[in-house]
Amino acid sequence: MLALGLPAMAARPAALRPNLRGEVMILVYHNFGKEARWGRSFANFDRDLARLDAAGYRPITLRQYVSGDFTLPAGTTPVVLTFDDGSKYQVRFTPAGQVAPDCALAHWMAFAKTHPEFPVHGTFFVNPGTDVFAQRAFIEPKLQLLLRLGSEIGNHTYDHDNLRKLTPAGVEREIGLGQYFLTRWLPDYAITSFSLPYGVAPRPGGLAAAGAWTGRVAPGRAPVTVTWHYSAVVLVGSGPAASPLVAGLNRARLPRIQVFHPEFSYWMNYFARHPQRRFISDGRPHTAGVLPAR
Ligand SMILES: [Zn+2]
Repeated sequence: MLALGLPAMAARPAALRPNLRGEVMILVYHNFGKEARWGRSFANFDRDLARLDAAGYRPITLRQYVSGDFTLPAGTTPVVLTFDDGSKYQVRFTPAGQVAPDCALAHWMAFAKTHPEFPVHGTFFVNPGTDVFAQRAFIEPKLQLLLRLGSEIGNHTYDHDNLRKLTPAGVEREIGLGQYFLTRWLPDYAITSFSLPYGVAPRPGGLAAAGAWTGRVAPGRAPVTVTWHYSAVVLVGSGPAASPLVAGLNRARLPRIQVFHPEFSYWMNYFARHPQRRFISDGRPHTAGVLPAR
């Protein structure tokens, strides 16, 4: 299934010295199926996984990144793969409820089977008010499968409004309703990551990280109160993110890199040419913010 297209000598990078102050790529995917500004073909997604793996990148969730809660083999680099919008070809099930072959999850699972060092540890941001993964009947089993694989689920608001265009009460409803349904679908799971629709912050900006909403989830129902406190808020795109181990990380505005051509190759080549800019693990556990800012 995989057409690597990589020269054999690229398969093993030279050993890299630990660099706990280096940068981390938080990648973002939207649609799958064909190559576009917001889309990645499955063939290119296969190549992305192979290329990252061969260059010594190892996947961690956004939650692990911000908490510093990851211990990777010495010489490897964490990378965060995020998936926004719960689009149709991210996660598909067959009518019988099995993972269908034509989805990003199936491609990653197949890759992880032959490359166990690159497990399905991604972060999926969904909008509960939309047709999540375009298969209403399977929303909960899909989210539960992602969690079982070691992935993370995050809030992307209820129905993907531009938060800047809403009143503070409207912002609270958008985030709160998203949080409400995610919590109802995953009752034992704490949502700690939030993705801003269009990368646009609300006013006041602090509502994206923490807040509360009281309202009715349906007419005639008793009002509910929902609170949220997110440890990671991500933007849409720009460049790599800072090391989470260095004090002062702005967890309320984390930059991401959109995976399309030529953006992804640009940053892969950038870190190949400037390995000193790259976070390199020393094989030991650490906590977020332990290194003083310089
Ligand atoms: Zn989105």
